[in-house]
Amino acid sequence: MREKECIFCKIISGGISCHRVYEDDAVLAFLDIGPISIGHTLVVPKQHYEKLHNCPVEVFSAMSAATGKIAGVVAEAMQADGYNVLCNNGRSAGQLVDHVHFHVIPRKIDDGIFQRWPKFEYSSGQAEKIAARIREKL
Ligand code: AMP
Ligand code: ZN
Repeated sequence: MREKECIFCKIISGGISCHRVYEDDAVLAFLDIGPISIGHTLVVPKQHYEKLHNCPVEVFSAMSAATGKIAGVVAEAMQADGYNVLCNNGRSAGQLVDHVHFHVIPRKIDDGIFQRWPKFEYSSGQAEKIAARIREKL
C-alpha cells in the first residue's frame, strides 16, 4: 500500500476525519472506527512505515512514548481494569492497514475479549535450535 492510498496517511493529512485523542510532532492517536472495546485507540506515526521493523528508532521511540502515556490515560478515562497494546504486522497477523500502528484496547475483568491464548510446548531441544536460528539473523 503506497502512502497516497493509505487511509491513515489521509487521516494524518486531514483528508479523512477522525476522533483525535492525542497529537504531537511525530504521532497521532485517534479512536478506532471498529472498536474491540469502548475507548479502543490507535497510535500512529505521522510518517508512513508499513511494519514495526521498518520504523527508524526515533519513530518507534516516539510511538512507544506516546502509547505508554495514552494507554494509562485511556484506561483511566474508561475506568478499565487493564489494557492490551497490540501491533499486527502482516496479513497473517491480522494487519489490515499497512501503516504501522499500536492498538490500545481497554479491558475489564470478565469482558470476554481474547479469552483464549493458544499455546503449546516446544519438543526437547527445539527451543535451543529456534533461538539460535533467530540469533543468526541479528
Ligand atoms: P489492523 O488490523 O491492525 O491493521 O487494524 C486496523 C484498524 O484500523 C482496524 O481496527 C480498523 O477498525 C481501523 N480503522 C480503519 N479505518 C479507520 C478509520 N477511518 N478511522 C479509524 N479507524 C480505522
Ligand atoms: Zn500511511
